[in-house]
Amino acid sequence: MRLPDYHTHTVRCGHACGDPAEYVAVARSRGLIGIGIADHLPLLPDPDPELSMELGDLGDYVAEVLSLKATHPAYVFLGIEADYRPQTLAEVASLLAEHPFDYAIGSVHHLGAWGIDDPRQIGEYADRDIDDVWIEYFQLVGDAAESGLFTILGHLDLVKKFGYRPTRTLTIELDRLVDRIARAGVLVEINTAGLHKPIGEAYPTLDILQRLCAAGVAITFGSDAHRPEEVGRDFGQAVELARAAGYEGFALLEAAPDGVRARIRPVRFGTRPG
Ligand SMILES: [Zn+2]
Ligand SMILES: [Zn+2]
Repeated sequence: MRLPDYHTHTVRCGHACGDPAEYVAVARSRGLIGIGIADHLPLLPDPDPELSMELGDLGDYVAEVLSLKATHPAYVFLGIEADYRPQTLAEVASLLAEHPFDYAIGSVHHLGAWGIDDPRQIGEYADRDIDDVWIEYFQLVGDAAESGLFTILGHLDLVKKFGYRPTRTLTIELDRLVDRIARAGVLVEINTAGLHKPIGEAYPTLDILQRLCAAGVAITFGSDAHRPEEVGRDFGQAVELARAAGYEGFALLEAAPDGVRARIRPVRFGTRPG
């Protein structure tokens, strides 16, 4: 599969297994054209050992991936998946600036204190107006896009994970979100992990991808692997989804000097990036 996988985790986050080197080995064995390690940035304000590494581990994580980068030049990228939460924006910005990340994935996992994708907190859905949940989530994702901190937006419609869909098509809200993403110039990943969640489909859904494509938003691919063997999982389906939405290619990250965010190069499906 001549695609890169930019969304992978490691044992450091407390709910995944495998070291970065194992993820890279699987990427090589499956013929991927690049891999980004993008473990969870310590969750602020209160790091949860089941959700992310601790602040004190971040330097070791960066050093470990940088050493792999040196062994696999132009193949391994140092990424991070950061939570977008309005109240921790400044602290996240300074952590992202302190380390030479090639890219950052911006993800919304929380509405206020509620972890929307956390199975331990699934009961909250029953107490909420589901349309309001989606609207608030879209608002935060748009804010994340406009924050300027992120290269890629992670699992764009994560709020569907457990199968709670809105009761009506949120056309106005969705159009506004797509417009904000397009203006911000941020990438959106096709994240195949959703295929293995209760919702049983990749993030984002075809309808959203079609709107993103029409608006000129470029895509990347991410397995959201939490085990080495999940690297590049279901990328064949992801390409079919992308093509169905109108995409003819994707955004490839290209190495820049350390400390400078990776450059983005458009590549057509099926071609060899030379
Ligand atoms: Zn995770
Ligand atoms: Zn995530």
